[in-house]
Amino acid sequence: MTYVANPARYERMPYRRCGKSGLKLPAVALGLWHNFGDNKPYDNSRKMVLESFDAGITHFDLANNYGPPPGSAESTFGRVLATDLKAYRDELIISTKAGWQMWDGPYGDFGSRKYLMASLDQSLQRMGLDYVDIFYSHRPDPETPIEETMSALDAIVRQGKALYVGISSYSAEQTREAARVLKELGTPCLIHQPSYSMFDRWIEDGLTDVLNEEGIGSIAFCPLAQGLLTSRYLNGVPADSRAADSGNPFLTVDKVDLRLAQVKKLNEIAVARGQTLAQMSLAWALRTVTTVIIGASRVEQIHENLGAIDNLAFSADELARIESILAG
Ligand code: NDP
Repeated sequence: MTYVANPARYERMPYRRCGKSGLKLPAVALGLWHNFGDNKPYDNSRKMVLESFDAGITHFDLANNYGPPPGSAESTFGRVLATDLKAYRDELIISTKAGWQMWDGPYGDFGSRKYLMASLDQSLQRMGLDYVDIFYSHRPDPETPIEETMSALDAIVRQGKALYVGISSYSAEQTREAARVLKELGTPCLIHQPSYSMFDRWIEDGLTDVLNEEGIGSIAFCPLAQGLLTSRYLNGVPADSRAADSGNPFLTVDKVDLRLAQVKKLNEIAVARGQTLAQMSLAWALRTVTTVIIGASRVEQIHENLGAIDNLAFSADELARIESILAG
């Protein structure tokens, strides 16, 4: 059936200005790292993208290597674009990245001009696009001069293959340097994409100050700690969860066990606020970052998570109780 977007899609979602740019981003974006590869049913992936768009999520975050296999999340997204979202291209913010290992040999990893340029061309082809809205250097490269990586980003914008550029997982110092070089080149750094959640607060130690000073926006990845900061694991590890997937090294059953006592206490605060833990976790992160990127394995999670935007305020007492749980 032909897809027609929900006419009410812009009524609920707040759109927040990204740093000192002209671009506004939805408070919640959808990330395609997990559950959009060739290993997952296409119909579910398509449904998650379309229901997100219907709910005001205009921003979809990808990377060259998302899958598995690497590249297949972009192909999945390209298929949804071609069949359903073509007419809405100007209402979409599509981001992709290069920086982690993508292909064999010396030109398929890190931050050389050679890799970034070739990788973006491949991403555009997989998604069937002329340009992406945001292109990122996915991680800092300890060997390539930052001038080379940033001048590749600048060239990509000048070639019309990306409208804006960003960096991901750069330290505070590296961010200051990248911002300086990009400014000199005339292509400002739009956005930084760091990990950030109640369980991962490294950005508070200097990076957020740099972003504020430089006028760069921020978008948190893994704001739910890959599902730990939701009700997913309150009563054990479900067989279909990310932690139960033995092929996933990032969230293991051991990591769940280590955090479970804190998760249960945080859940009590969420319930007292009239929220789920996922909703409270996103609302908490949105105090510090411009927007958050959620992952999901089913549409119900997306709908639940969007409920975060209905209660973004915290009392001083709630914040103090959360701090004491996180310190414990
Ligand atoms: P989250 O922390 O949001 O975790 C998402 C997972 O949590 C889901 O797949 C699901 O797991 C579970 N979940 C989500 N909502 C709920 C809910 N309401 N109830 C129960 N469980 C829930 O983020 P991700 O780790 O998926 O990362 C988000 C995005 O960030 C990625 O898709 C990617 O775009 C970006 N990213 C960027 C990185 C970078 O280096 N720049 C690195 C990593 C991610 P389950 O499968 O168990 O249902």
